[in-house]
Amino acid sequence: MTEFPVRCYIGLGSNLDNPERHVTTAFEQLAEIGGCRLVTHSSLYRSDPVGPQDQPDFINAVAELHTSLEPETLLDQLQAIEQRHQRVRERHWGPRTLDLDLLLYGDRQIQTSRLTVPHPHIRERAFVLWPLAEIAADLSLPGGTTLSQWLALCPMGTLEQMPL
Ligand code: AMP
Repeated sequence: MTEFPVRCYIGLGSNLDNPERHVTTAFEQLAEIGGCRLVTHSSLYRSDPVGPQDQPDFINAVAELHTSLEPETLLDQLQAIEQRHQRVRERHWGPRTLDLDLLLYGDRQIQTSRLTVPHPHIRERAFVLWPLAEIAADLSLPGGTTLSQWLALCPMGTLEQMPL
């Protein structure tokens, strides 16, 4: 942890062109980012699309990354991985080959033109909270709440944890 002092959580999502493959390949690419160590990742989860329903289900997961990179430098790296998946994005909340979100960056609260951390939709999205709970059940969130408190308000619903 000293070499990579900040614990981060990354949300992954895909719903095009073999989404399982996009997400599992992205785990490998996260592990290759200089200045970062991939510590663990959740299982894959299947979720209903948010927004337009005339699109395939999503595959989601969360990864824990320890890093020495500054937040926006890490965002650059995440966006470079998205580009390597030839991300297509035709409309807001529409289908995409790979989406990577910086959910948490240590206990920092960040608000810049490029970054809002904690990611603004964490607390209402089962497909983020439940994979996060799988790998970080005792997590405390910036601002003094806990992941358990958020989970209590966000049931799994139709979210499905996929077999390994
Ligand atoms: P989306 O594809 O919907 O995830 O949105 C991507 C845009 O969100 C990019 O322009 C980012 O600069 C911005 N953004 C703001 N906060 C975050 C965050 N915590 N993680 C990833 N992207 C973010």
